[in-house]
Amino acid sequence: MTHRAILGASLVLCFAAATLKSQDAAPRPTGQVAPAAGPSMRWYKGNTHTHTLNSDGDSTPDDVVRWYREHGYQFLVLTDHNFVTGVDGLNALHGADEQFLVVRGEEVTSRAGDKPIHVNGLDVERLVEPPTGSSVGEVLQRAVDGIRSASGVPHINHPNFGWALTGQDLQQVRNNRLFEIFNGHPQVNQEGGGNVPGLEEVWDQILSSGTLLYGIAVDDAHNFKQPGNPRVAGPGRGWVMVRAARLEADALLEALEGGNFYASTGVVLEDVAATSTTLTVRVKTEGTSKYRIRFIGRGGHVLHEATEPTGTYTFTGNEGYVRAKVLESNGRVAWVQPVQVARKTALATAGLWAAVAAMSALVLARRQGRTCADARYDATSASV
Ligand SMILES: [Zn+2]
Ligand SMILES: [Zn+2]
Repeated sequence: MTHRAILGASLVLCFAAATLKSQDAAPRPTGQVAPAAGPSMRWYKGNTHTHTLNSDGDSTPDDVVRWYREHGYQFLVLTDHNFVTGVDGLNALHGADEQFLVVRGEEVTSRAGDKPIHVNGLDVERLVEPPTGSSVGEVLQRAVDGIRSASGVPHINHPNFGWALTGQDLQQVRNNRLFEIFNGHPQVNQEGGGNVPGLEEVWDQILSSGTLLYGIAVDDAHNFKQPGNPRVAGPGRGWVMVRAARLEADALLEALEGGNFYASTGVVLEDVAATSTTLTVRVKTEGTSKYRIRFIGRGGHVLHEATEPTGTYTFTGNEGYVRAKVLESNGRVAWVQPVQVARKTALATAGLWAAVAAMSALVLARRQGRTCADARYDATSASV
């Protein structure tokens, strides 16, 4: 990329940042300029929510990592409850350049009253103590802030588990960009129920308000010894495909926070391409499956539905945002991240969150040094 292109990207970034509301993510400590999507970028399959015997999982870290390594993943984040499982030995055994990487993590597990509040910290440099507080919003914000201060990237987990987090809670939290649109645990209520909306409806409400959130899919795997049992939290149910320049934690997390990924429960995409005027999704077809590509905008309205494996939507300028959902004929799904569509003005600017973020220059944030304390998760207080 030329200096001019970098400057241009930075200017567009400034525009995009100015349009975002309270959830502007804190800078990720890389200090590098990520290249735009192009031939040098690759897709990496990963799961960012996994438990081991170090909290309430049923298998050793070695067995857990081995499962993902042997099932076509390129990265895995170990996120035990209030415990940072070391990854150096695991990477020595299972890691390989551009093939597989284990990333440190923690599920910061706390509660407000009877509401469980779980926030993952990806690549935290040390243990984040579970916060306390007098309200859901306060505990949630403190968890996010604690993860940021440990140089980690937060993602908010299973909002409907224990019916804990409302759309308003998700909308108001600051310095968070990611939440789980899908979690493979069987008790997380992601479809909603009663008078509580499902997560997809909540997502559209938040995006419609002008707050940017990206949706990730995860396993939240606990059980590796009962394959095929849908009543337990087994592996292989939800994952992200991240487009990054290299298989390193900083590059992967920068891409995640920039929306340069899609979430999936089984649909594979050949490509996602956002320009200033269009969003194109190309599905990698499998067997006899058929697909619908649904383009969704403000208020959750379906703007267009493509019935071929490739679909393109052309922005009108009135959508607010456009995201895509791919529905496969056996129930598998992929969620393509939203891009912001600016109203057509004299400047005729379309700010594209995803494309911009892929090119954005991120500022170095200083890592604070503290060793990982040996605080064990209290298995009686949460199970997801
Ligand atoms: Zn949880
Ligand atoms: Zn969990």
